[in-house]
Amino acid sequence: MSNIIVAIDGPAGAGKGTITKKVGEKLNLVNIDTGAMYRCVALEMIRKNIKLEEIDKIEQILKCIEIELKEENGQQIVLLNGEEVTLAIRSKEVNEIVSQVSHIVIVRKTMVELQRKMAESKNIIMEGRDIGTNVFPNADVKIYLDATPEERAMRRYKENKEKGIDISYDKILENVKFRDNNDMTSSVAPLKRAQDAIYIDSTNMSIEEVINEIIKIINNNIK
Ligand code: C5P
Repeated sequence: MSNIIVAIDGPAGAGKGTITKKVGEKLNLVNIDTGAMYRCVALEMIRKNIKLEEIDKIEQILKCIEIELKEENGQQIVLLNGEEVTLAIRSKEVNEIVSQVSHIVIVRKTMVELQRKMAESKNIIMEGRDIGTNVFPNADVKIYLDATPEERAMRRYKENKEKGIDISYDKILENVKFRDNNDMTSSVAPLKRAQDAIYIDSTNMSIEEVINEIIKIINNNIK
């Protein structure tokens, strides 16, 4: 049998991260957070003081960038060129540019290639914006996970607080709306629901309810 691919797409803060991790653990699927990969590129640009329009310089960093997503003691760890950046990629500065960075054609092309390579011969659950539409249009299961912007901002706020990241709710809501608009109107792989994706509105659902719903869908679709 070929490897199993589960695609989870949806806007910022819909709960994709938490849910993908839990479902992955329960069903023994390797979890790939593609947002973390775009965040790594954004962080590298900030550190090297590279502007969004400096495509030549961006191409240079993409040529040798190494991004690794690992699991350590039940935690997702992100390594950028060998250095742990799990928290650094969640900073306000990265939030502010990541959406634009992710829509630069060469960035998207390089990351999509990397994502397909990471999935080779593994059973995976991959979360992002364009997994079911662009990265794996033939995924076995496609889910579009949604919630209202206010609910999503509140979830991000709480998640950040637990991680010790101090950003106000209003600032997060503003950023969520800004990124929604950027992600949905982009000419490069815009965020949209794949025609064959199952839509879940998680606004009034608990994490457990969403996890159970997704596990049920996966089990029904993969025999
Ligand atoms: O999921 P997360 O919020 O960490 O993603 C950061 C940003 O990366 C998103 O706002 C989106 O602009 C971009 N992204 C993307 N395609 C993906 C994953 C993330 O454009 N597959």
